[in-house]
Amino acid sequence: MKRGNEILALEAIRPSLDVERLREDFPILRRKVGGKSLVYLDNAATTQKPRAVIETIRRYYATSNANVHRGVHTLSDRATRGYEEARVRVARFLNAREDREIVFVRGATEAINLVAQSFGRPRLRRGDEMLITVMEHHSNIVPWQMVCAATGAALKVVPVHGDGELDIVAYGERLSHRTRLVAVTHVSNALGTVNPIREMIGMAHGRNIPVLVDGAQAAPHVKVDVRELGCDFYAFSGHKVYGPTGIGVLYGKREHLEAMPPYQGGGDMILRVTIERTTYNEIPYKFEAGTPNIAGAIGLCAALGYLDDIGREAVAAHERELLDYATETVGEIPGVRLVGTAREKAGILSFVMEGVHPHDLGTVLDHEGVAIRTGHHCAMPLMDALGLPATARASFGMYNTRAEVDALVEGIWKAREVLL
Ligand code: PMP
Repeated sequence: MKRGNEILALEAIRPSLDVERLREDFPILRRKVGGKSLVYLDNAATTQKPRAVIETIRRYYATSNANVHRGVHTLSDRATRGYEEARVRVARFLNAREDREIVFVRGATEAINLVAQSFGRPRLRRGDEMLITVMEHHSNIVPWQMVCAATGAALKVVPVHGDGELDIVAYGERLSHRTRLVAVTHVSNALGTVNPIREMIGMAHGRNIPVLVDGAQAAPHVKVDVRELGCDFYAFSGHKVYGPTGIGVLYGKREHLEAMPPYQGGGDMILRVTIERTTYNEIPYKFEAGTPNIAGAIGLCAALGYLDDIGREAVAAHERELLDYATETVGEIPGVRLVGTAREKAGILSFVMEGVHPHDLGTVLDHEGVAIRTGHHCAMPLMDALGLPATARASFGMYNTRAEVDALVEGIWKAREVLL
């Protein structure tokens, strides 16, 4: 009896998703690919969009389109309100202290470039070090290489263990009196590893070293609280959280953003311009030169609203279940080796099959309607470290089902028959 009650109590607190119902919110999921039902397992590349987002963007252009922060007319006021409400929504999503700590950018890539150029570059000198990890996406490597080349600073790298977990001891050893900045991914896009960023931020802050977190793969799967994390910067992309492409977010602590020079010059980022000199606008506008992606921000606001209505904990629990199921069923297929088996993972299953190139595997799966990603996943240094040219990667979103994992498994069996 007691056990029954415990189970009931557990079920009451465990959030659950009505996946079949929420799939109806995503029009694209109804389409066929090559005559087969689409099984979309490439969510780490980009997520599909719910009707709430598509319709919000359509409505914005149909009823409210105007430029922001400029006109006194009604439409400009509506557009400005929509754009600024999006900022408030993002601040809440990340639990930022203030709305002005949210800068709208094109995506995680632009957010990182902004920090590299406006925060990193002025601080780094010859003899200084910048610390990243080997599991970074190229967008959290190349901007730092560029800044290091321009300043003479050295780029240091934290290695990973064979299972895809970060070598936290090596991280501690590489934090030195020369380290000026740490940039680390919250979740690896190639392996799904969730890094212990809270601990990593604590270790860096113990030495007064600021930390940028690349949250492109975490924001869709993990509840992010920038105040609890204490990170100095946090970057993510709208299109990976069920929002539109071309819009993303840089969170920065107010004191940093205020002290940083602008990244780009133009309209909206100024208070006054004479030919001799310009007085810059306040944050966040100082970093938003030119007409921003207004429809994108409003669409992102709708996406975050949708995600929060569904419940981020419920989404995370559902994806966890799918990942466990896929790990078991894909891992059992003869010749398949899972790449990345860290204890903490989010929504991503990377694997290779003996004797089969991942691209060929991806092509056979595509014929079955199953969309996965194959290649180096913009993480070539990680692939080199693991001694692999490429992997196949299935990545899950809120609308995926166990039946779709079964379709993936069947497709891999078929690829074995066709290709081996
Ligand atoms: N970081 C990580 C971990 C990513 O997975 C990605 C996108 N694949 C990016 C950064 C870059 O995001 P975007 O292309 O949207 O700027």
